[in-house]
Amino acid sequence: MSSIPTIEIFVRHAANCKYRDDERSKRCRCRKHLRWTWEGKQYRQSAKTRSWDGAERAKRERELQYEAAQLGRPVADNKPVTVERAIQVFLADKIGAKTGGSTVSKYKLTLSRLQDFFSQQNIYFLSEIKLAHLSMWRENWRSYYDSSFSLRNNQSRIRHFFRYCHNAGFIPDNPAAKLSAIRIKEDDYDVVPFTDKEYRAILDAIPKCDDMASASRDRVRVLIQLQRWSGLSLVDAVCLERREVVKDGNHYRLVTSRRKSGTRINNVIPGWLGKELLLVKGENRQYFFWSGQSTRKSATSVYDKLYRRVFKKAHIIGGGSHRFRHLFAVSLLEAGVDLRVVSKALGQSNLAVTERYYAKWSRKQQVLLARELTKTWGKSLPQGS
Ligand SMILES: [Zn+2]
Repeated sequence: MSSIPTIEIFVRHAANCKYRDDERSKRCRCRKHLRWTWEGKQYRQSAKTRSWDGAERAKRERELQYEAAQLGRPVADNKPVTVERAIQVFLADKIGAKTGGSTVSKYKLTLSRLQDFFSQQNIYFLSEIKLAHLSMWRENWRSYYDSSFSLRNNQSRIRHFFRYCHNAGFIPDNPAAKLSAIRIKEDDYDVVPFTDKEYRAILDAIPKCDDMASASRDRVRVLIQLQRWSGLSLVDAVCLERREVVKDGNHYRLVTSRRKSGTRINNVIPGWLGKELLLVKGENRQYFFWSGQSTRKSATSVYDKLYRRVFKKAHIIGGGSHRFRHLFAVSLLEAGVDLRVVSKALGQSNLAVTERYYAKWSRKQQVLLARELTKTWGKSLPQGS
């Protein structure tokens, strides 16, 4: 790896900084930059930070990119790879492959836990890690994750990491390949919608949130009603565009698609809600709730925080925006609407998924089942047995 450049951190001081004569000073909060030479060419780049530690991280990240670029070459013979080094290379590969930021940070977290756990066991080299160690480590995961879904996702990240290391020639085989599958328990599919009473209490609490700007209160109220009556997820509701709301007789129609999966949604909402929606004053003419300036993720988290303040005011424990979506689905199912129709309204592309979550709420299915069961009674068996 000889052609990896040496990257240097330097400070661009403000004109009045008392350390301005020392471009390597760690004493001030002036802007940090990186510079290096590679293949005869000089590079300079902002480290996008004012802290020296932050600059160290930016430097490391840049170095990792160069290292990843060298990965086409086999690892030097008989040179054992440390867990730490394998993680660095793997993450550099993920970053190089333009993997989404949130995925990369999940990998970072999972792998830093792996490194911590194994360094406590005095295991530093990747080739020392065997299936039994991984099984042992897996015992601890319950302390980080509360659902089987998260456990399973964590395991798939671990598998992926070891598969990569195996393919990269760091280890002769993949110890994670034989980890037993994590089963999803029935409880993990528990859907808890807000009750009508809770929903009422939430709406009533909004005007009492006096620490919230009145414009925010207005937007939150309409957003909550939108979720409850359309079943949109928070991100889909926040990023709904004005042109996606179309007048349809006495009602309005939402013609949009899910940001998560791209599945089409075409739901009717009550006329009064459509009118309220059109009255929402947004910062952006294209959207109701989103400024269009931030990322979707940060816009969603802004509303999520506002929701939490409302839930607190309403004394709701375990509140969450998805429970409005559940309320939408469950109230349809309880009214006897077919599960397939509800699945479509939720924009779920896989009916089996809807079924797993919502089957027990489906009144129609229960009635059908009861009818089928009672029909069989007395047919095959003598009475009273
Ligand atoms: Zn300075």
